[in-house]
Amino acid sequence: MKKRLVFATKNAHKLEEIRAILGDTVEILSLNDINCHEDIPETADTLEGNAVQKAEFIYKRYGIDCFADDTGLEVEALGGAPGVYSARYAGGEGHDSEANMKKLLAELDGQKDRMAQFRTVICLIEAGVKHLFEGVVKGEIIEEKRGKTGFGYDPIFVPEGYDETFAEMGGEEKNRISHRARAVQALCAYLNQ
Ligand code: IMP
Repeated sequence: MKKRLVFATKNAHKLEEIRAILGDTVEILSLNDINCHEDIPETADTLEGNAVQKAEFIYKRYGIDCFADDTGLEVEALGGAPGVYSARYAGGEGHDSEANMKKLLAELDGQKDRMAQFRTVICLIEAGVKHLFEGVVKGEIIEEKRGKTGFGYDPIFVPEGYDETFAEMGGEEKNRISHRARAVQALCAYLNQ
């Protein structure tokens, strides 16, 4: 029988992305499909902690195999910040990308070491057993925003081996090399084995 997994995300784009990668081998259910309309807590202080917390929330309540992800931008000169707090780095409700980028550029003002990485962690819970997968893309934070596509910190992040920012690169190429794509590929390799 085909494996069924819930993806604990409210992001429709992420659902489509993973369904496209997995093809017919695994059926991915959304939170809507299992009638979950609650806010899933995300209060840990690490990416791993949040991914585990979200997957455990679904597994404990619905008793169905599932996975959840969490992503952060880790900047070397800032000791790994904003990391798990990337969405709400500039405070407030979070997800204010302009304010987040402005704060990051200010923190790095005059800083020579601009190395950074995006890191995605996925926690899969299968028959009660947790499995963690990771995807990393290394790069650097430039001094001024460039490019129009993407979201979050894309306009100020240039991946290693490229001249363009994620926001100049466009969706298709970014999705091929991104941290999320790499974490999803690691999950898929496990599920398809
Ligand atoms: P999430 O765990 O996927 O919701 O990501 C948390 C935060 O990290 C987002 O709100 C963004 O600020 C940042 N982020 C995650 N993935 C990306 C990306 O691909 N490009 C730029 N920023 C990202």
